[in-house]
Amino acid sequence: MQISTTLPGNFRSALMRGLRGQCPRCGEGALFHKWLKPYNACPTCALDLTPQQADDFPAYIAIFITGHLVGPIIIMLALEYALSSWQIAAILLPMATAMMLAMLQPVKGGVITAQWWNGMHGFVKERVEAPPE
Ligand SMILES: [Zn+2]
Repeated sequence: MQISTTLPGNFRSALMRGLRGQCPRCGEGALFHKWLKPYNACPTCALDLTPQQADDFPAYIAIFITGHLVGPIIIMLALEYALSSWQIAAILLPMATAMMLAMLQPVKGGVITAQWWNGMHGFVKERVEAPPE
């Protein structure tokens, strides 16, 4: 196992790497070689990414976030502009679809990062050594 000197210091910095589509371990290699298809191994640090099992979880998260963002907009459009249901649907369905599609890859990167950080599904739990006290 190759140890990189650029391991993230905490989960937040690892998560930011994953959300940007970068390898959570080294922060340099790309996580995805297609839209939602992660590499089998990081091209830079060779982190084995085959244990990742994001499955449907990124889609659930994207739907959850989109729903919470779109809900107030539906209420505003209905109350402030008195739009019909069809007009609201014509505005919000394309918007919600675009929001979910835009969120899927970053959210999947975040889910893979959480699995790696917590050593789930065969990932090796790696941490920066704490300084001696
Ligand atoms: Zn890497």
